[in-house]
Amino acid sequence: MDFLFVSDHLALDFAATLSWRTTCPIDLLAEPADLAAWAVQAGLTDRPGRVSRSALDRARLLREAVYRTAVAAERGADAAVTDVRLIRECAGGPQVTVALRALGEVERHGGVNEVLATLATRAGELFGGDDRHLVRLCAGAECTRLFLDRSRAGSRRWCDKLSCGSRANATAYRRRKAAMLSSGAAPTGPYDT
Ligand SMILES: [Zn+2]
Repeated sequence: MDFLFVSDHLALDFAATLSWRTTCPIDLLAEPADLAAWAVQAGLTDRPGRVSRSALDRARLLREAVYRTAVAAERGADAAVTDVRLIRECAGGPQVTVALRALGEVERHGGVNEVLATLATRAGELFGGDDRHLVRLCAGAECTRLFLDRSRAGSRRWCDKLSCGSRANATAYRRRKAAMLSSGAAPTGPYDT
């Protein structure tokens, strides 16, 4: 499976591995091997090794704590004490190590425990710093992905322009076209929202 990395922060991409949360939730980390694949695609480790079922359970607990804390950040609300504690405790373990092999080439060492500790550390840096103010929820109708809005104007609306952005524009176009046809006017273009 190819995972999507569009949130501009690894902890938020991790939270999005449970997608369509409010309508038809799909857990992209259905099996331990999915977590291993995600960690490699995320560039966190080269060889995560075998992932146990209990490690997957721990990953999901961390993921949900990260998601809830990101939602709190997006709303300007307080984070749950239990979530902060879980992220903090998880970050306390040994981290993934990165070693230079050659120019333009590094080795990333760490199993699933190190991957989760590193993710929790990144989440802690995000939620404990000023970037927490940049957390946004995608404007896609049923999308529940959170992302960082690093646009200069603070105007990023979509997790991914190619999926949610174009889908929303296409829907708006169809609605406008239907409204214009019923009023006798011609639509002016597909994406002139
Ligand atoms: Zn989206």
